[in-house]
Amino acid sequence: MAGRENQPSTRESEMKQPKFVSWLGSMLENADLALAETDLSGSLVKANETVVGVLEDEALRRLYAVQHGIRTTVLQRFDAHGAEHDRGAPHDESVCRAAVSELSAMAKDADLVKDIFWRDLREAFPAAETSIGIRAGWQVVSIKEQERRSSGISIISIGDLLGL
Ligand SMILES: [Zn+2]
Repeated sequence: MAGRENQPSTRESEMKQPKFVSWLGSMLENADLALAETDLSGSLVKANETVVGVLEDEALRRLYAVQHGIRTTVLQRFDAHGAEHDRGAPHDESVCRAAVSELSAMAKDADLVKDIFWRDLREAFPAAETSIGIRAGWQVVSIKEQERRSSGISIISIGDLLGL
């Protein structure tokens, strides 16, 4: 068997990345860590939470910052759109639907990134068990099950919010 196994593999370096992976790579490079840190600074450890460590890993911090940044943008754009309605902007339905569609797609991307973040964070902090959260100063907390919804990241449905 004259195999290719003796040849140096160039597959990895030549491999084209899937679109989402490639996009995430550039998002990670440009992640706004300062925004994430500022917004986290108001998220204090609550009575039902136990600090299990501090997230020092910059790659993981960037992952958090990417999903946080997207969420922030989605909420800002949603508010801006709502403000246009409040001012009586003559949107036709197709304009609103296009906005909802774009914001929903962004929110879904943020959810995917968030899932990856929690997955890696749980692995890095096994002591946190099932419910885990991020607090001011990148503190990692374990949260009592019944308080899970207070973890600071909430899933939003843009369509529901816009009433479409
Ligand atoms: Zn509209």
